[in-house]
Amino acid sequence: MDLDASVSILKGFGKKRVDALEKENIKTIKDLISFFPSRYEDRTKIGSFENRDHDITIRATILKKGSIRFINSKRNFIIFSVKDDHGNLGEIIFFNQPYLINQLKPDETYYFYGRVNSDKKLPRIYSPKFASIEETEFLTITPIYKKISGVPPALIQKTIPEILGKIKIDDFLPEKYKSNNRIIDLNQMYHLLHQPVQTKDIYIASNRLKLNEALKINAGITFLKNEKLVTDLVINNFNVLKPFIKKLPFELTDSQKWVLRDILRDLESGFLMNRMIQGDVGSGKTIIAIICAYLFCLNGLQVAYMAPTEILAKQHFETFKEYFKDYNFNIELLVGSQNKVETERIREGLRNGTINIVIGTHSLFQENTDFYNLGLIVTDEQHRFGVKQRGQLENKGQAHILVMSATPIPRTLALTFYGDLDLSVIDQMPLGRKKVKTSVHSIKKLNKILKFTEQEIKLGHQAFIVCPFIEESEELKEVISVDKAYREIKKKYGKHFRIESLHSKLSNDEQEKIIDRFNNGEIDLLIATSIIEVGINVPNVSVIIILSADRFGLSQLHQLRGRTGRSSIQSYCFLLSDNQNEITRERLSIIANCHDGQKIAEADLKLRGPGEYFGFQQSGFNSLRFINPLKDKKVFEQAKDLIEEIFKSKKAEDMICKDYLIKEFNNESKYITLD
Ligand code: ADP
Ligand code: MG
Repeated sequence: MDLDASVSILKGFGKKRVDALEKENIKTIKDLISFFPSRYEDRTKIGSFENRDHDITIRATILKKGSIRFINSKRNFIIFSVKDDHGNLGEIIFFNQPYLINQLKPDETYYFYGRVNSDKKLPRIYSPKFASIEETEFLTITPIYKKISGVPPALIQKTIPEILGKIKIDDFLPEKYKSNNRIIDLNQMYHLLHQPVQTKDIYIASNRLKLNEALKINAGITFLKNEKLVTDLVINNFNVLKPFIKKLPFELTDSQKWVLRDILRDLESGFLMNRMIQGDVGSGKTIIAIICAYLFCLNGLQVAYMAPTEILAKQHFETFKEYFKDYNFNIELLVGSQNKVETERIREGLRNGTINIVIGTHSLFQENTDFYNLGLIVTDEQHRFGVKQRGQLENKGQAHILVMSATPIPRTLALTFYGDLDLSVIDQMPLGRKKVKTSVHSIKKLNKILKFTEQEIKLGHQAFIVCPFIEESEELKEVISVDKAYREIKKKYGKHFRIESLHSKLSNDEQEKIIDRFNNGEIDLLIATSIIEVGINVPNVSVIIILSADRFGLSQLHQLRGRTGRSSIQSYCFLLSDNQNEITRERLSIIANCHDGQKIAEADLKLRGPGEYFGFQQSGFNSLRFINPLKDKKVFEQAKDLIEEIFKSKKAEDMICKDYLIKEFNNESKYITLD
């Protein structure tokens, strides 16, 4: 059987099912066997009605014929009275399956697998899986796969072991590494993940799966890192910077000066710069980019600045124009919403060198944009782009690279995913900044908080209210939407403040106008979605109120809070939530008490687990589901050592392995983003 063959050659996989699988990115046999269980049902351990805290198998005898109860004309359930083999009485309930009455017979003994519920007088199991006592194959560890609509789970459960019985997967990892490090064979890994016999098997096999992933990432990053490129784009006339920096409206912090020094050292080194600036929200990264842009323009080189969203691109466009208003630089904006003529005009200007600085979204680089003499590429909010996208843009030509991240990235992750970049950290806030006073409240307090906000606005300050959704939804009645908040607050305060709402359903034009007006102080209170999370820089904002704060990630809350506290005025962040879940309360209290983006990110990762943290597309980096960069440090270290050995070696098997891993990294890494 060819691993690359389409799943359509398999028995039972007709067109409809093949299409449904394709939606999950399962196209080939290899994809199908790499569709790993999302969890396992361990039916091997037999307990009793006394085991209450997890799913369990019990052996129980039916005491008498089941009886049926009707909930209404369409819904019913049947109850069986049973006794488990420890002598405990209990009940088994099935909903809407009246035919089971005759299937489960009095005085017969069955296995039931499910969770014991003890809300009623007798312990109950609702809708258990069951089998008769002779069917000992019921007592296995059963893999449970994510449901794919249109494909029966049983088909997947049956087909994967059949395939595995017929094929042997060649392991990309040379034998010697496995025997030396007690790493299981790839073939065995597939078998154990899909057909584990003991719980231990899952553990051993998923370790190999994690290792595979760590190997790919490490190989890819090492490959990128080793590609230090010699360049003749050497810049060393740094004296021109002094007067420019002197003229800035503020003095650079020591941290900013150090970062700048790192950059200048790169620029005169004769190698292309490949540097990341990490600095918490509001630490002042933009000015570094502006100073660099100035230097490149004076050296007759073009600068491209890449932002993750159009709004942000426009903001930066305005900022750049403001800083360079006394200079004769030609600065342009290139974003998706421009018309063809406009886009072509700008492309032409970039080609013939009449444009010095271009600011845009990543679409700027994805299509055929050519430059006359590009010298510097700046990528802002790096964590929002995939690793692969970064590669794409670096291929754009011989240019120095500067990436900036507001770093909700824990150090461990940064080292893994950005190990190819040199790192400079801004670990100091501009002078005179006050910590944003942050507190958690019940939603009932909103009126009081609005009263407080009114006072702030009277002092001439501005405020944000952030809601998780634009419109109300039936399912989530308790969550206040932008629409609803806008309607109600406008009704109450519309006479006193100038209130507007901002969200992605407005056209780009409308969004831009509102942001402009907010920037100019023509709006007092802006009610928005998390659209304002990055980049909005209005130092006059002193209040941010976040409704249903539990619906946001911690790093996102930190970013949102970072929209305030951007000057020397005291700012306030109010987190409103009625969610009483223990972990939720803990998460919110972390934000209230901690102002360090790094620490918040680490805490977030611990509480959430990596799957959510990465926000990867389910379809892509399947294996990332298994790895937790904090918990699995050992695996990461093992991978790092192995990659070092493999990359050093000149043996054919090692070189094949290396090429394979780099290829896999390139295929998969486009799915990794650290958002
Ligand atoms: P971020 O690092 O989040 O991108 P910005 O670059 O937007 O932060 O800077 C936030 C604000 O701080 C801006 O208004 C900027 O002008 C201001 N700023 C930057 N550096 C300094 C400094 N050294 N002293 C005072 N204000 C500064
Ligand atoms: Mg910024």
